[in-house]
Amino acid sequence: MKKLCILLIFPFFTFNIVAQNEFSIYKDSFIEQLWSLYPSWASNSGYYKYNYKLNIPDEVNRKEQLVFSENQLAILNTISIDQLTLADKTDFFLIRDFLKNIPWELNELKEYEWNPSIYNVNGDFSYLLNTEYAPLEDRLRTINEKMKYVAAYFEAAKSNIKNPTIEHTKLAIEQNKNSVDVFSDDIPKAVELANLTKEEKIAILENATACKKSVLSFVTFLEKMPNLHPRDFRLGKELYVTKFSQQIQSEYNSDELFYMALNRKKYLHEQMFHYTQVLWKDYFTNKAIPKDTIVAIRMMIDTLSAKHIKAEDFQTSIEKHIPLLVDFINNKNLIYLDPSKPLEVRKEPAYMAGVAGASISSPGPYDKESKTYYNVGSIEGWPKDKQESYLREYNNYILQILDIHEAIPGHYTQGIYANQSPSIIKTILGNGAMIEGWAVYSELMMLENGYGNNSPEMWLMYYKWNLRSTCNTILDIGVHTQNMSKEDALDLLTRQAFQQKAEAEGKWNRVQLSNVQLCSYFSGFKEIIDLREAYKKEQGAAYSVKTFNEEFLSYGSIPVKYIKQLMLNKQK
Ligand code: ZN
Ligand code: ZN
Repeated sequence: MKKLCILLIFPFFTFNIVAQNEFSIYKDSFIEQLWSLYPSWASNSGYYKYNYKLNIPDEVNRKEQLVFSENQLAILNTISIDQLTLADKTDFFLIRDFLKNIPWELNELKEYEWNPSIYNVNGDFSYLLNTEYAPLEDRLRTINEKMKYVAAYFEAAKSNIKNPTIEHTKLAIEQNKNSVDVFSDDIPKAVELANLTKEEKIAILENATACKKSVLSFVTFLEKMPNLHPRDFRLGKELYVTKFSQQIQSEYNSDELFYMALNRKKYLHEQMFHYTQVLWKDYFTNKAIPKDTIVAIRMMIDTLSAKHIKAEDFQTSIEKHIPLLVDFINNKNLIYLDPSKPLEVRKEPAYMAGVAGASISSPGPYDKESKTYYNVGSIEGWPKDKQESYLREYNNYILQILDIHEAIPGHYTQGIYANQSPSIIKTILGNGAMIEGWAVYSELMMLENGYGNNSPEMWLMYYKWNLRSTCNTILDIGVHTQNMSKEDALDLLTRQAFQQKAEAEGKWNRVQLSNVQLCSYFSGFKEIIDLREAYKKEQGAAYSVKTFNEEFLSYGSIPVKYIKQLMLNKQK
């Protein structure tokens, strides 16, 4: 009897397994070809086979990418999705969406023509020099191989560029000027320390000198190029709408998200004024509260921002804070934290310096067991007024929220869960809006559960922080699709979002140089909050925030709209 059952079930199962095996073989070949076509991306993901390669960004290479997209999509068309597991289905969608995007980027967006700042080899060479994936000698030999492509790389760049934007041209000049150090200082220093033959050393140094020349010739080319009809840095509505849908992969379009962000801003202002009223007497005893709510909120924020740490304590205060976050989460039972996965707070390594105040370096898909680093930039060398402004921005309240966002249960925790899902596809084609959205959601989730003892100060500062990601969306869509002026942008950021002038100017620079990415924070946040509401309703009495958090993260870094399909209506 038992045997018969097995026989009956067997054909059904084999079918399924064949489909899965086929798909898993397909994925392996897809990834191998992907890495060979995008060697820098491969290196950065911890796949080192193509470290020696540097793509020449010419017509031939663009053709290769188009053929890759076409061929791979044709193969995908032969796979029947119905027979795949849920996890494979989402991999399938991620690959398909990625491949569909390639022709659009090359034929419509054409960033290779108007954005000279995409031409920069500093990251590639610094990465090989600073990542100890192999002995220094081997890495220098690989660097030497790779340096042979640099001249052709910049020649192709020069012939690609047509009517570039003034802003990206300026950035390209600055960044490339700064990047010559890797060839004139860093590589020669490493050569000195390395155990190589005299001939090898001479060859590497000669190639490094040639690379430096190529970089500088690109800089001169940009400086001298007549650019009579520069492209507007504003992407324009048509391109923006498509890029938004492909990159954010939200169930909303950019117009819908824009109005949701405006509503959120209104809500946040109401909340902030409420807490300002609650706190007013404690801080301004006899002073009447201003009629203009924005002015009142600003006064309260300025007062609370004075509570901040000293510049030299920045890193130690983060180090002390991390275990407190772990305790809080465990006590409140908010999400399982794997104690065997270390998080190390470290001073930002020199080659990253100046990029950001704090960031997370997560282990890549090929070295899941290695440490996660919380990189903290030192501000000790800064001028006093700049230091003060930064410390007021990252005051005692905001600094705690920053740790939640970057580390626990934000980016660090999400990264650990993502690495548990055995899909390399989800790790390499991960969705930025889901990743940022989770970090932004985790801040609110902590406060809702009593983090900061529900103090009005903490809530007020939290809302100010949340207003930042909300206004990032208003700014990005406004500037790139609605011609928002610099004046209006600065008013939005400084007056309506209570930011320091320096911070707002920095954001204005960023929105001139990037597009769409600034929407990822609010977009992901909004969709996660909505999904949690729907999930709560569906679960009824069985709902717990821990179950939601853990299940949500278990699918890996895929667009929230796909997670929604997997989490809701499971019975159906
Ligand atoms: Zn101060
Ligand atoms: Zn983030």
